[in-house]
Amino acid sequence: MNKTVHFSCTQCGKCCHNLRLPLSLGEATEWLRRGGDVQLFCEAIPWPQEPDPGNLHAQHKRGRSFSANSGDLPIRVVVSVVASFDGPCPHLLPDMRCGAYEVRPLVCRIYPAEVNPFIELAPAFKACPSDAWATYHPAFLVAGQVVDTVTALASEKFRVNDFREVSKRAKLCALLRISTASLANEGFVIHSIDGEAMLDALSRVDTVLAEDAGASDWDFVTSRAATRGTLLEIGARVSDLDFTSNKGPMQYLAF
Ligand code: SF4
Ligand code: SF4
Repeated sequence: MNKTVHFSCTQCGKCCHNLRLPLSLGEATEWLRRGGDVQLFCEAIPWPQEPDPGNLHAQHKRGRSFSANSGDLPIRVVVSVVASFDGPCPHLLPDMRCGAYEVRPLVCRIYPAEVNPFIELAPAFKACPSDAWATYHPAFLVAGQVVDTVTALASEKFRVNDFREVSKRAKLCALLRISTASLANEGFVIHSIDGEAMLDALSRVDTVLAEDAGASDWDFVTSRAATRGTLLEIGARVSDLDFTSNKGPMQYLAF
């Protein structure tokens, strides 16, 4: 926690491959218009009672999620709107420069810092080569805090927007008839949506009223028999869908 991490990007392009990039709704619209794919990653947290206001970790989860029910169980649902690609990013140029540099998503401006304020940057888990972390580069992280001003501002903007767009993500799910989520920390349910349908729903989230967007009774998905039993015991709804082949518009990604 007390160490200083030095960093300067070598523009190697390694971080622009095989990604799931969390986007704002505006960024998702632009990504789709440029021909990219966008998915929704959904997870849900049983929320029988409100946490202590001093529990910052729980308050952070609360801020990123919206209230819903799964059967008799109050839950909070975390939805991430994600640009997905295997291999190189569709915007990565042959010389490893970003072909969408001026309009690249905020999360691309934050890397290699973490978007989650409770996760500290660990160079060993990053794609950057060792020379990017040489001590002759400017300080990037000091005592757990990002001190690179541009990155720190981008991180703050990402987090504020992440909280601000929660109700719109709830409406987006309702408009797309999405109501299936993993149990948080066990995996994700990934919903792949046709680009036109996603653009249409994104264009409507600002105008549709929450009560007109649709109901929000959610089903859990789990690959663990013990989890399934516990969720049913506490009154939650658990999907009977078979994810064995895990193909199609809804997939389960277990951790
Ligand atoms: S948008 Fe640009 S910076 Fe972001 S992953 Fe693609 S090529 Fe890399
Ligand atoms: S992997 Fe690191 S050094 Fe390479 S382009 Fe990405 S941020 Fe820069």
